Amino acid sequence: MATTQKPMEYVWGHRRRYNDYPSFIRKKFGGRVQKLSINAGFTCPNRDGTKDVRGCAYCNNNSFRPAYCEPDKSVTQQIEEGIAFFERKYPDMRFLAYFQSYSNTYEEVGLLDKVYSEALNHQKIRGLVIGTRPDCVNVEILDLLQEKSHDYFVTVEYGIESTLDQTLDRINRHHSFEDVKRAVALTKARDIHTGGHLILGLPGENQKDALRHAGRISELSIDTLKLHQLQIVKGTAFAKEYKRDPSEFPLFNMEEYLDLVVDFLERLSPGITVERFINQAPHDLLIAPKWGRKNFEVVAKIEKRLKERNTWQGRLSRFIPNKSFPKE
Ligand code: SF4
Repeated sequence: MATTQKPMEYVWGHRRRYNDYPSFIRKKFGGRVQKLSINAGFTCPNRDGTKDVRGCAYCNNNSFRPAYCEPDKSVTQQIEEGIAFFERKYPDMRFLAYFQSYSNTYEEVGLLDKVYSEALNHQKIRGLVIGTRPDCVNVEILDLLQEKSHDYFVTVEYGIESTLDQTLDRINRHHSFEDVKRAVALTKARDIHTGGHLILGLPGENQKDALRHAGRISELSIDTLKLHQLQIVKGTAFAKEYKRDPSEFPLFNMEEYLDLVVDFLERLSPGITVERFINQAPHDLLIAPKWGRKNFEVVAKIEKRLKERNTWQGRLSRFIPNKSFPKE
């Protein structure tokens, strides 16, 4: 049972009740850091016909691409435009090049080197964040990223989405959870900062499944995690299915989701830094659920809920060694 005494500082070194990404970044860089989304024109095996042409059932890449981020512009031009946008507000900002659209390791290693180097050669770029699929990395590519990580901050972010193979099949991912384990192990073996995305509320999964993900993700020993609620977005397979039969998609309302996230955090290893709790598709593309809340509002609500329940990340996690219980 949770104690009524308020913990003063947690094992992640501060008083927030979860191991949050902004604190991690401030500690690492000593100040504000902004990710600049870059579209380098890569595709993915789930779109180009190697595995499928239909894509993952929830995916519409236009839902997470800023306007300045077009593949017909060079990497340098996209960086310049991104910096111009953010520097107006925060002149002391540092930047990471975020290769976000599609699978950003899905190319021949020489071309990847050229693209990553172009970003890193920009004087204001401090590192790379590379979004990809677990079946789109190999030893050669990870060796290249390891080499870059000696001089720059490098994160590889894997789309995990679910830890259950039947769900991965249902959403047309064309990879297994074993592929995730293999990719994460190869990445961590090279001491590369490793992240993951997970969607809560995929069709066929119940609350127990969602909470089981927390333990299985903790076993992976990734460094950062982004949680997303399932969104039904226009132009996706899910949009068609949702129109046919919405009962297939038990979408959360905001209050249910807040409680699920708190339950999930309690079971998540305290060693994993949590970067996001929700995703926000553009208003004109989003079909459901329409919560109308910004990311920072949801973060505040989750922190409030953690406090109300007097709990914290990892409280019920079997990954807590004795020494890492919160200091009371
Ligand atoms: S989610 Fe990623 S892997 Fe799936 S179709 Fe979209 S870009 Fe391809």
